[in-house]
Parts: sequence; C-alpha cells; structure tokens
Amino acid sequence: MSPGSQDEAQRRIRAAVSRETVDTRDMISRPQEELATGDALSPPEASSSHVSRETWDELPIASEARRAVDVLNPAGNTFPRPSRPRTICIANQKGGVGKTTTAVNIGVALALHGLKVLVIDLDPQGNASTGLDVPHHSGLPSSYSVLVEDAKLESVMQRVTGVDNLWCVPATIDLAGAEVELVSVTARERRLEAALDECPESFDYILIDCPPSLGLLTVNALVAAKEVLIPIQCEYYALEGLGQLLHNVGLVAENLNPVLRVSTILLTMYDGRTKLADQVANEVRTHFKDDVVNAVIPRSVRVSEAPGYGQSIITYDPGSRGATSYVAAAKEIAERGAAMPVGEGVA
Ligand code: ADP
Ligand code: MG
Repeated sequence: MSPGSQDEAQRRIRAAVSRETVDTRDMISRPQEELATGDALSPPEASSSHVSRETWDELPIASEARRAVDVLNPAGNTFPRPSRPRTICIANQKGGVGKTTTAVNIGVALALHGLKVLVIDLDPQGNASTGLDVPHHSGLPSSYSVLVEDAKLESVMQRVTGVDNLWCVPATIDLAGAEVELVSVTARERRLEAALDECPESFDYILIDCPPSLGLLTVNALVAAKEVLIPIQCEYYALEGLGQLLHNVGLVAENLNPVLRVSTILLTMYDGRTKLADQVANEVRTHFKDDVVNAVIPRSVRVSEAPGYGQSIITYDPGSRGATSYVAAAKEIAERGAAMPVGEGVA
C-alpha cells in the first residue's frame, strides 16, 4: 500500500473508531440490518486493544474499528495469487441482484490484499465505473471504444484512485447502442476476448460486470471469461431465471468457449430476520454445493449508500458487516483460485 493510501486507511479507521463511540451509546438506533446479523449486539471489546503501535498512535479501539483495520489491510497482508490469471464474468440477467456491487467490492478487496485487478464495466449504466469513481461521460475512452471502435484495452483502462493495484475499464452510455452497432461486425461475440488476448498487461483477476440481460454484451463477457460468478439475492424470486442463465452459459461453453464454467455463487442481500433468506440460501447450497462461497453478503443500507460517494463499502465503511463480508468472500475466492490446478480453465 502506498503512503498516501496508508494515510487514507488510517483516516478511515479513526473515523470508524469515533463512530463506534456513538454506536455503542446508541445501539438501539443502529441500522436494523446490523442488529439482524447480531453483530452490533456483541459487547464492545476492552479498550486496552490497540492498533499496531509501530504504524500509528495508540487508539482505544473496539470491534468495529478492529474490523476496519483487518479490512483496509494497512499491514499489507496478501491474499494468495491464483495458480493462473482468472477472468471472471459476473452475470445474472436479473437486475438488482448485486452484480455491480460484487464486481466493485470483490475487486477492491482483492486489490487491497495485494492482487492486481482489472474491473471491466460492460453495463451501459456504468454503475461499476460510478462505484469506483472512474470518469465515464459519453465519448470518453471506454468498453464501448474497445468493442465497437477497436481501441486497445490498455488505452482505455484507468487507475482507481485510492486503491493500489486496481484498474477499471469504464462504461459510458455509448455502450447502449453497441449491441445494434455490432450486428454487422464479424466475430462480434469475440470482440472482448480478442481485446483481452492482445492486452500486454497481465492481471491476477479480471472481473467483468455484465448488464442485466443475456444479449451480446453478456455473450462477449462469457466468451472472454473462463469462469462465471453468479450473485444470487436471498429473496423470493431469486431462483427465477437462473435456469435460463445456466442454459445460456452452457450454450456459450458448447459453441464458443469450451473452458467456461460456473465456478462461484455468491449469496447477496441476506436478511437474517427472515426465514425466507435461509430457505433460499439452503436451496442454493443444495443445488450448487461447493461452488457457493461460505461468506454471505448481508443486506445493509451502508452497502447501498457507498456508490453515492463514489466508493466501495470497503473504503466507505470498513468496519461494517458489508465490508467484512465482502473481504471474507474475496479471501475465499482467492484461496480457491490458488488451489485450482494450473491447467484448469485453459483451452
Ligand atoms: P445489479 O448490478 O445486479 O443490478 P447492484 O449491485 O447495482 O445490482 O445492486 C442493486 C441495488 O442494490 C443498488 O442500489 C445497490 O447499492 C443495492 N445493493 C447491492 N448490494 C446490497 C446489499 N448487500 N445490501 C443493500 N443494498 C445492496
Ligand atoms: Mg449492475
């Protein structure tokens, strides 16, 4: 972590400390979802625990702040590198299930833990670009330039400010016309794959944030990727449409990208107050077994606030349950990546 990012990490941790003082006094007014996870109910820890003395002043910290320290990783602990670079398409044609939130937060978590990450925004709404605070006005170099105008990937990627090791290819609204503009282009479903193959930069993780459809943009992502991560909301209609998605992944694997497979399922927006959330989670685990990440992302107002500040939940509120859950999920994903046979997913 660069000195600048370290200062920033310390500032955020201090903010978490001061918030904790208020939170413990005023526990009842904590957001419901924090209470629902049971986390805010655990007593604040003894004020004798301290943030590392070598790095900055002694601070009396309680649980939230200590979680913030783990999440922002000022000590520079690293997650294991994958046994080969991983390109993961984050897809689900249902909107609002947490695709973009997952791309942003898993990307930030992996990068904060020393892995080199590229997030490719492939949704014309540009929400991942917003969440990472990367400029994406119409006309700027973007994923549209790569898909439609033959721009080189390395010429359109931008560094994400405040997070070392993290780059983003933004999406502009121009992308909304790309599916139509690509109709007459040869090998139109291989545009992103070709751009990735030609890119001289290498990354440990490339995460592709898909739009909520199974059109040509998502097909480009499925062809370019080796793995699919499906976020599933722990809610009633969550499993609807999943069959169609799996069918399409199968079609792409059969016809265009034989190595493609669904490798990761992430349960999102889990609300521990409802029985339904558990039922959905159990059903998903029964069906997808070990592909389901153990860490579950809770429904949390803080998670939904973060993009409004151009931030991930990890940098916006590092001590929150949303942040710790995303970091835990990223760690599992990294550990699975390190354990993969080197040849797996290679054509
Ligand atoms: P998608 O990309 O699948 O459409 P998003 O990631 O944009 O979904 O999430 C949809 C909305 O839900 C956004 O407003 C986002 O901020 C919010 N959101 C995502 N994850 C959570 C969560 N764990 N808790 C609460 N709100 C969330
Ligand atoms: Mg999205």
